[in-house]
Order: sequence, then C-alpha cells, then structure tokens
Amino acid sequence: MTPLIASVIWFAGIVGWFIIRYPHQRRSRRVPKQRSTHRTRERWLLSISFCGLFVVPLLYVLTGEPRFADYQFQPLLAWLGSILVVAYLWMFYRTHKDLGRSWSVTLEIRERHVLVTRGVYSRLRHPMYTAFWMWAVSQALLFPNWVAGLSGLVGFGTLFFFRVGNEERMLLETFGDEYREYMARTHRVIPGIY
Ligand code: SAH
Repeated sequence: MTPLIASVIWFAGIVGWFIIRYPHQRRSRRVPKQRSTHRTRERWLLSISFCGLFVVPLLYVLTGEPRFADYQFQPLLAWLGSILVVAYLWMFYRTHKDLGRSWSVTLEIRERHVLVTRGVYSRLRHPMYTAFWMWAVSQALLFPNWVAGLSGLVGFGTLFFFRVGNEERMLLETFGDEYREYMARTHRVIPGIY
C-alpha cells in the first residue's frame, strides 16, 4: 500500500458510490413530491458536506496541499480505510435498494410515501448516514493529512447533526405513531449504541 494507491481507492469509492446512486437519482426526479422542508438550509448543508467529502480531498490528491498538515503515511490505516470503502459501498447499495422510491437527496415526502422499516432499516433509522459516516472515516484513514483526512468528518458531521432531528420530526408528522414505534425499537446510525 502506498499513498498513491490509497488515493486511487478513495476515488474508486466515489465512482462506485456515483454508479450506485445514479439510477435512483434519475428515478427520483419522476416521483412527485408531497412536501419539501428546510430547502435553503438543506442546500447549504449539502454544499458543506460535498466540500468536506469531495472538494477538499480532491484538491489534496491533485496538488498535495495543504502540506503543513501532512503526517507519516501508515499502510495499516490505509488498509483499514480500504476495507471501509468496500463496506460503505455495500451499505449504500443496500440502503438505496431498501428505501426505493422513498429516497430523496434532501428532506422530502413523496406522494404515497412508504415508511421503510425492513432490510437494513429494521435496526437502524439512518443506515444511509451510517454509510456516509463510514465514507468520512475511510477518508481519515486513507489520507496522511489532517485537513484532507478530517474534512469529511467535519463536512458530513455538520450535515448530519443539523439534519437528523428535522428529518425525524418530518417523518413523525407524516407517519405519527407508526414512526414513534419504529423509533422505539431502532437506533440512529450504530446498531445497539446510537
Ligand atoms: N436518513 C435515511 C434516509 C436518507 S434519504 C438514511 O440515512 O438511511 C432522506 C429521505 O429519506 C428523507 O427525505 C425522508 O423522507 C426519507 N426517509 C428517511 N427515513 C425513511 C424511512 N424509514 N422510510 C421512508 N423514508 C424515509
């Protein structure tokens, strides 16, 4: 394992993510919306997350900047990061498959929105965010640079913590007791813990 291979694995993960997401993105344009909430704020949060998970590490890969934040490359950490890339791609695949037409990039309720509680959603309410957390952690393990490594955790963490409460409130307003009971028997992103 070398820093170059680690960068290639990081990029391959993003290409894989795009390939998994693309058909859902296309279909979602055709599924009518019933409700869309916190739109401006959502756009900001998505931009922050995009910068942290993609723009900052891409600049690092292309230019090596910011060099002051470099530290010694650790092959073992990069191997662990690579395993996480495979894990998050699997998780993205499963969550998109299970969520189906209920999926949206932002906070939206579709017409005839179905509450999904099976598959990877049977123990976790936000398994797609689990996948994004794994992406952010894999980035930290793959890049021997404090800024490029940690920007994903900061960027996605901002989106997650500002969004997840609103998302659950929106689903509670839409599904009432059905979602309340679902909340009572599931965790947010880490099975049995959080
Ligand atoms: N937070 C989820 C979904 C992310 S996509 C996850 O991490 O897996 C965001 C959209 O999914 C929201 O607009 C919301 O309408 C929808 N959503 C979230 N949880 C859902 C569920 N259990 N069933 C159906 N739709 C859900």
